[in-house]
Amino acid sequence: MATTQPQRTCVSCRTVADKSQLLRFVLAPDGQVVVDYRQQLPGRGLYTCLTLQCLAQAAKRNSFRRVFGAEMQPIKLDELKVQMQQAIFLRIKGLILMSRKAGQLIAGSNMVLDALKGSAPPVVVVMASDIADNMKQKIEHSAKRPQVVCTQLFDKVSLGQMLGKEERSVVAIQDGSLASMLNSELHRYELVREN
Ligand SMILES: [Zn+2]
Repeated sequence: MATTQPQRTCVSCRTVADKSQLLRFVLAPDGQVVVDYRQQLPGRGLYTCLTLQCLAQAAKRNSFRRVFGAEMQPIKLDELKVQMQQAIFLRIKGLILMSRKAGQLIAGSNMVLDALKGSAPPVVVVMASDIADNMKQKIEHSAKRPQVVCTQLFDKVSLGQMLGKEERSVVAIQDGSLASMLNSELHRYELVREN
């Protein structure tokens, strides 16, 4: 049975979606608009899709001013973009940690390589941007299977931080709902990191 989640509308493209799928903005006490990624800050909120396009359009069309009124300081679009990227980063981090808790995470180059060659390979592979070239080639080669999504994001230190380690070159997640959620967040992250 499908659960009903509160719905909200993106102020730019008018897409109606589960609240959790959209990005919430609120007005901070100093009049700055901030990203409220946990959707818990008090006050009136404005929602957009998690894309730079919908964010930029909301700013261009003065949607923030209409919602937050005269006390609002001018929008700092670049800062909001950074906050947005951080918000998705945190979501990805959360999903990777949940995958670990669920026993679906494989971390480290050799472990991931072995798993990719196995009969039930992980479906999402995240390689650090600064992974060694030879390891990258090995992993990409082994990940050439139709069901495997292989992407390069973050650096070794950031990937390691997510797992409470110093550095990680690669992590992979086994098939399941966490993997598909992670996949869509990785896709979003790719959309919002381009400038
Ligand atoms: Zn939108």
